Amino acid sequence: MRTIDLRSDTVTQPTEAMREAILHAPVGDDVYGEDPTVNALQERLASELGFEAALFVPTGTQSNLLALMSHCERGDEYIVGADAHTYRFEGGGAAVLGSIQPQPIPQEADGTLPLDRVEAAIKPDDPHFARTRLLALENTWHGRPLPFGYLAQARELATRRGLGFHLDGARLYNAAIAYGRAPRDVAAGFDSVSVCLSKGLGAPVGSVLLGSAALIAKARRWRKVAGGGWRQAGMLAAAAMHALDHHVERLADDHRRAARLADGLGGIDGLQLKGCHTNMVFVDVPATRLKDLAAHMASHGIRLSIGYLPSIRLVTHLDVDDTAVKRTIDAFRAFAY
Ligand SMILES: *Cc1c(COP(=O)(O)O)cnc(C)c1O
Repeated sequence: MRTIDLRSDTVTQPTEAMREAILHAPVGDDVYGEDPTVNALQERLASELGFEAALFVPTGTQSNLLALMSHCERGDEYIVGADAHTYRFEGGGAAVLGSIQPQPIPQEADGTLPLDRVEAAIKPDDPHFARTRLLALENTWHGRPLPFGYLAQARELATRRGLGFHLDGARLYNAAIAYGRAPRDVAAGFDSVSVCLSKGLGAPVGSVLLGSAALIAKARRWRKVAGGGWRQAGMLAAAAMHALDHHVERLADDHRRAARLADGLGGIDGLQLKGCHTNMVFVDVPATRLKDLAAHMASHGIRLSIGYLPSIRLVTHLDVDDTAVKRTIDAFRAFAY
């Protein structure tokens, strides 16, 4: 029985074609800036997403951290969603490693930070306060594409109040597919953007930070300090290039399969469908049944993310096909709630 892993879109295996691309990648020492495949990836993404420069890094967490540390200095503050990844799921890195104070703002159900609350949280220039320097958004947020018009409104506020504007775009390509827009339209207006290649795009490792040449120069320095100065990373950049060539349009398949999954789960008594956004489906069961459900699904070869979020999360990706969707619905149906 083939395991169906719906915990996250990070669990994908590199395809045969991707492994081929990795095998034949020209490489060099990236700390010297001499890896041709890394350089090609960085130049390509900077040009495609509309930025001066880009930096290939091991993880989205490091990419966001480098962005925050490049925008802010010790004693500065960034405004961020209270349930945003950089604030909640990155070990407090901005504060721990960057001496940057987060100012969390409770988010609406659609992931937006109410802009009047953002504005009210900006501190006056006074030694009592941290210096508010940056506004950070996340798109998609728990699978939700932010309302497209909100991006320009938030940009307007950041400009008017002199704040930098960062996007954690780990799943920016999912957002682009959901909007039916070019990825560069989703990145437009931000001073820095972090994108993950290792989520729905299916590369084994890697994220890219985009920004001005000056910002990326700072980020490159912090990457070295953080121990992220890697060497013949072109083998990983080759996988990322392959993902950009072959795995962007197909994100629509993941979204379609998530919708199909939600459709099938929606009709099951005792299971509450909480939402379906891009490649993520959220369901609830009575808390007393969670453990049994996990065991039941495991016995059907299905892995789920249970316990990290209030709801159970199911994520579709490259290794989840139509048969897997059907098997998952059948397994949920067979459970006594
Ligand atoms: C996964 C993720 C990250 C971090 O990526 P890692 O590569 O796991 O460190 C950042 N932001 C969001 C929204 C993510 O989903």
